[in-house]
Amino acid sequence: MIEGTIVKVSGPVVSVDNMAGAKMYDITKVGELGLIGEIVRLDGEVAIVQVYEDTSGLRVGEKAVCTEEPLLLELGPGLLSSIFDGIQRRLTDISEEWGDFIVRGVTTDSLPRGRKWEFVPMVEIGDQVEEGDIVGEVSETQHISHKIMVPPGVSGRVAEVKEGEFAVDETVVTLEDGYQIKLMQTWPARVPRPVKRKENPNIPFITGTRILDTFFPIAQGGYSIIPGGFGTGKTVTEQTLAKWADADIVVYVGCGERGNEMTEVLTEFPNLIDPKTGVPLMQRTILVANTSNMPVAAREASIYTGITLAEYYRDMGYNVAMMADSTSRWGEALREVSGRLEEMPGEEGYPAYLATRLADFYERCGRAVCLGKDERIGSITAIGAVSPPGGDFSEPMTQNSLRITGAFWALDTPLANRRHFPAISWLKSYTLYLDQIKDWYAKNVAEDWKEHRDRAMSLLQKEVELQEIVQLVGPDALPDFAKAVLETTRMLREDFLQQFAFSDTDAFCSLRKQYLMLKAILTYYDCLEEVLLHGVPLRQATEHPIKNEIARMKEIPSEEAEEKIADLIERIKSELRSLSEW
Ligand code: ADP
Repeated sequence: MIEGTIVKVSGPVVSVDNMAGAKMYDITKVGELGLIGEIVRLDGEVAIVQVYEDTSGLRVGEKAVCTEEPLLLELGPGLLSSIFDGIQRRLTDISEEWGDFIVRGVTTDSLPRGRKWEFVPMVEIGDQVEEGDIVGEVSETQHISHKIMVPPGVSGRVAEVKEGEFAVDETVVTLEDGYQIKLMQTWPARVPRPVKRKENPNIPFITGTRILDTFFPIAQGGYSIIPGGFGTGKTVTEQTLAKWADADIVVYVGCGERGNEMTEVLTEFPNLIDPKTGVPLMQRTILVANTSNMPVAAREASIYTGITLAEYYRDMGYNVAMMADSTSRWGEALREVSGRLEEMPGEEGYPAYLATRLADFYERCGRAVCLGKDERIGSITAIGAVSPPGGDFSEPMTQNSLRITGAFWALDTPLANRRHFPAISWLKSYTLYLDQIKDWYAKNVAEDWKEHRDRAMSLLQKEVELQEIVQLVGPDALPDFAKAVLETTRMLREDFLQQFAFSDTDAFCSLRKQYLMLKAILTYYDCLEEVLLHGVPLRQATEHPIKNEIARMKEIPSEEAEEKIADLIERIKSELRSLSEW
């Protein structure tokens, strides 16, 4: 322990003298209350500490103690279903003991020590184990088996194995050199957990949301940003993804600006039911929450806490979805601390290293071959919400995130105002993953999946041009062929892109059903063009009742889609074509 004296207090940034020997990012307990902070700069013997708690009342001359350890997280059974703050203090327990607000300087065990877990060993005495090897399992929740792994950097021969019920800090396996493997390990939050190698992101991250899977898919292990103005559906989209997306584990990091934003998440999440298993969604979720009474600096740490928890479950071979809401608040924390450190400001006062910090964070995602003898692949897919002030996408956080992330799902206020949900703009959004995952779609969904997607996309782009003409000359002046395009794009918007998140049958749409729905609409368009060529008036074709059946495709359960929509496609062809024979 190194003990120093506070020489300056500037909001969350505190300068401490006589700290020779302290290292960057060492945890330091500041003042009489022992407020928790991290060293973010060293100037000779003066350490500058970024404090994660309210520093009001802190005085020059008080003591500060450097623990000589970085921010270490506890990783082990009991993480799932937990709600932590940005530095992994258990919010649930703290509130039980201290009321709703965290009392300053309080430290708690991140993982409860009182609970016993049934450990089932998977190694025997004499086995040689390497880093990442699984030595046993604990059934953490009803559907998630928690693998107890040899920590990175450790290897040796097994000298003793236990079986039965243990607390997280009890030893279950001892190696010949005396190293004790417990149910829990610790890891510094700012250091990426090692993997054997990263794999190509060539498998899609299936969400069941049509606009995402069909138009702007991302890969498992990829990352996307989702800018969300107030009321555009950010929360609903995130909850829909948490419920339905193809992930075993969900880590949700929330930095609420206003107090109630985070309270909403904290009260809603525990009530969500996992549609795949029927048990509470929290059983495969970890929430990291920064309540509004915590200073901004704590938000900075929360993103690293979240990604480390995600990496730990990835190392077990799970697919993890990490949601950060919102990364803008994290950027603001960087900006505030950088300002206090009197660093040279970059664009709009953000530090010049904003882009590198963002890149470092997103680089911790990916699909990876985990450490350990048995080949297992895990992934972290990140969805980062961004809240650009005033919806202006040219601001530094949005721009810097855009440069790094592979996909952009733009929530659009006009669409939300028109009650078009999900309000994700098909004109402003994009994905860079298409080339990597199109072969997977061709093999697993349909050979011509990409052609269908591209055709639908170009029709939607054409709609914008046609609407401009309509505004100038009125709809009647358009030729029938153009009107057929508009009729088709209306269908694409209403019957394909709109998807009600609260519908039992439509909240999740299988990839085959998405493909068939799109095919049905495009077949309808082809038939409209055909009958027009035969001189049939457009109205006669568009008034045909088959279009009501297209509008009802959403209600067809995914399991019945194959048969029912294929049949519908055949009937669209025969019934519309029969108009020209008439
Ligand atoms: P935000 O978090 O961006 O402020 P919300 O997620 O709370 O916005 O969404 C606002 C409202 O929009 C919701 O209460 C809901 O009525 C509606 N909404 C958003 N997305 C959908 C969706 N996919 N399906 C149905 N309704 C939606």
